[in-house]
Amino acid sequence: MRGQVAAVPRLEGVRLTVPAREALIEAGNAVTRASDLQWHLDLTAPPKGLVSVLTRIGADFIRGLRLATEPAYPTEYDQSWWERGEVVPCPRCGRSLVWYEAGYVPGYRICLVGHGAQLSADGTSAKSTWRTHNPRREYGQ
Ligand SMILES: [Zn+2]
Repeated sequence: MRGQVAAVPRLEGVRLTVPAREALIEAGNAVTRASDLQWHLDLTAPPKGLVSVLTRIGADFIRGLRLATEPAYPTEYDQSWWERGEVVPCPRCGRSLVWYEAGYVPGYRICLVGHGAQLSADGTSAKSTWRTHNPRREYGQ
């Protein structure tokens, strides 16, 4: 991989509320329609207060994003902490966090430019570690 930043995380087939979609677009994320109910996201800067849950449509469980200030989806289930952490912004710069545990520290992440961050135990927030990494290293480059 070339360039100074890690690859932008892509979330596919995500369900969005209208306020969540508007907040994602306003924050500069690419949001494209995948079907009547689902969207693809190239997540460069998750807006604060975004909540990631599982929703049910028929027999399928689909990731749903909504704002914390909105009511829950009619069928809503908790996700694992690491999945919730995928929509938490970098506490230093607001960009997306990507996996960077490297086999050592569960919940350790770096943002797209390399700021170190530690997810909370429930995956709903992150604290800055004030370390900076080379974001290309995650991909073994
Ligand atoms: Zn950052």
